[in-house]
Amino acid sequence: MTQDLEGGCACAAVRYRLISLPMFVHCCHCRDCQRQTGSAFVLNALIETDRVAVLSGNPEPVAVPTDSGRPHHIYRCPSCKVAVWSIYGGVHKLLFVRVGTLGDPAALTPDVHIYVRSKLPWVALPGGTPSFDAYYDSRKLWPQASLERRRAIFG
Ligand SMILES: [Zn+2]
Ligand SMILES: [Zn+2]
Repeated sequence: MTQDLEGGCACAAVRYRLISLPMFVHCCHCRDCQRQTGSAFVLNALIETDRVAVLSGNPEPVAVPTDSGRPHHIYRCPSCKVAVWSIYGGVHKLLFVRVGTLGDPAALTPDVHIYVRSKLPWVALPGGTPSFDAYYDSRKLWPQASLERRRAIFG
């Protein structure tokens, strides 16, 4: 299974493997994510940093301004500069891994659509996946096992 969860940057200097499934997968339609990716939304797999094995390379953090003012560092390949994950709010135990950098990006599907208020009008959301105008309450949405993993990070 975890073979499906290997990924990396465009030049292959950075390679990583998720050593378990993520806790939750966000599809974020906020303006920050649109600007930072140059696309309609971003796909982030939320997973503990110690469950991401870096197989090669050393992604380097780039601080980016945010609408909320919360710190956000995008980790990029030092050579090709492709973004492989983010750290939000200085929480170093939690990575937001870019699902599009997986060898098989179809391996993970969004569990929730967030900041739908700025969703591009031509993006049609699938029925059955929860969606929110802004953020949401993870306590109400995440599976119990993921909430326990989350508690191990935030206490
Ligand atoms: Zn690269
Ligand atoms: Zn966003």
